[in-house]
Amino acid sequence: MSHPHPELGPPPPLPDGALRVVPLGGLGEIGRNMTVFEHAGRLLVIDCGVLFPEENQPGVDVILPDFTSIRHRLDDIEAIVLTHGHEDHIGGVPYLLRERSDIPVVGSRLTLAFLEAKLKEHRITPKSVRVKEGDRRSFGPFECEFVAVNHSIPDGLAVALRTRAGLVLHTGDFKMDQFPLDERITDLRAFARLGEEGVDLFLADSTNAEVPGFTISERDLNPAIEQVFRTAPRRVIVSSFASHVHRIQQVLDAAHAHGRKVAFVGRSMVRNMGIARDLGYLNVPPGLLVQPRELDGMPGDKVCLVCTGSQGEPMAALSRMANREHEIRIGKGDTVLLASSLIPGNESAIYRVINGLARWGANVVHKGNAKVHVSGHASAGELAYCYNIIKPANAMPVHGEWRHLQANAEIAMRTGVAPDRTLVVEDGVVVDLVDGRAKITGKVPAGYVYVDGMTVGGATEGSLKDRRTLAEEGVVTVVAIVDADTGELAEPPDFLARGFVHDGTTFEPVIPVIEKALAKAAQEGIGEVHQLEQLITRAVGAWAWRTHRRKPMIIPVIIDA
Ligand SMILES: [Zn+2]
Repeated sequence: MSHPHPELGPPPPLPDGALRVVPLGGLGEIGRNMTVFEHAGRLLVIDCGVLFPEENQPGVDVILPDFTSIRHRLDDIEAIVLTHGHEDHIGGVPYLLRERSDIPVVGSRLTLAFLEAKLKEHRITPKSVRVKEGDRRSFGPFECEFVAVNHSIPDGLAVALRTRAGLVLHTGDFKMDQFPLDERITDLRAFARLGEEGVDLFLADSTNAEVPGFTISERDLNPAIEQVFRTAPRRVIVSSFASHVHRIQQVLDAAHAHGRKVAFVGRSMVRNMGIARDLGYLNVPPGLLVQPRELDGMPGDKVCLVCTGSQGEPMAALSRMANREHEIRIGKGDTVLLASSLIPGNESAIYRVINGLARWGANVVHKGNAKVHVSGHASAGELAYCYNIIKPANAMPVHGEWRHLQANAEIAMRTGVAPDRTLVVEDGVVVDLVDGRAKITGKVPAGYVYVDGMTVGGATEGSLKDRRTLAEEGVVTVVAIVDADTGELAEPPDFLARGFVHDGTTFEPVIPVIEKALAKAAQEGIGEVHQLEQLITRAVGAWAWRTHRRKPMIIPVIIDA
């Protein structure tokens, strides 16, 4: 089994007949899934998602995969194949299509419908290629076969990729719910058939590889959801992902059974559920759905609202309700049902929302106190079944942080995949499949690309560091009027501070420090403005740390007298 390879350089040219696999996202993190396959001089992309920022990445909207390694080869891309319609698999597509708009985008009906709605907001009309399970389609030298998989969004597909280098199976996100609401199960018979044919490389979803046993069925949530609707004295407000069609189906069914009317709240919820309903993935009993306004005069126990914000996203409906910034006022007797996961990294934001709602008197039902969520991903038991059915020659876990990838690799090895053919790699590490053997051969750039308002890639790790410094330490601006002839201060400097605790005398002790630094610079003949600025920054920074144990951002401004 492999380990991090910081010393890797760019990969050598790909041998004739070999297949190159380059993960650009999703390996070593949960999100921005993207894998690039190269064969016979051509490229195929599977998924192109976004990663959502954490609290230490202020001002960032989303994080994209780094397209640097394919940017000069955009014309070689045969297609972007999408496994399913989650943001962490499709959210980056608009940004890749901005670089070349006519790349064919391949996916199932619901996946393409969700993508097309998103692309409309970016004013892009994609070249869509609709496929379904069982289809085989060739894109240049890549023959793709699509296999039904079950996940927390309908219409997911695994992709079997045939090239002269062999057969690769990529699961996308999947689980093995044997009793899903749409009765569309993961096609293990197809997995077995591909296993018989001989899978040379298996890329399997690692998200739940650390979770022992089996992921329970969506249907097992029915009793808890049912209980909420049976016992809630006033309104029921449900929050879930805007793509979790089956979970919302269960909510609609329970609301219908208990005589409640339902309104969708929030742009993405209204949009996605409209699409799912139009395409027949969401079954809405006649008369059940109303506009939020129509609920105003109704008794609370006849009302259900379905909104977004289950991850504590600050702009989503639920957070705004918790902060009393939404026209829907949460009050005593209301029940809020968070029918969703708790994505690592979002915990504090979610608990903030739960506390906010509880303070207004709501009874909050969530994963922590009721069985109202099951994962969309296969647990260790299901993965073991898959490895035993498929018997791959090589395994490369995908989708997960390092610990998840590692746990998946251990399952692979326990089922008989050779340790030296079980590759745990992170984003950017290049794996070549040559003569049936997968090997690490190099590394390409795979850093974070930040989308920040209208700019892509403008914000860097450096600018985020500045934002963190500003937020945590404040800023001190030093305006110094320097005599151009002597290099000394013409008058005492001015200090402007924000977020750095100060009063009228705070900065007095630092004035002699600056004077001394400038005098020394003048002696040594240092007179360039940016050099003097650096001197002041260093002098004031050292003083702030020495005397206040603070590290404010220091902005020197030098004016020639
Ligand atoms: Zn997914």
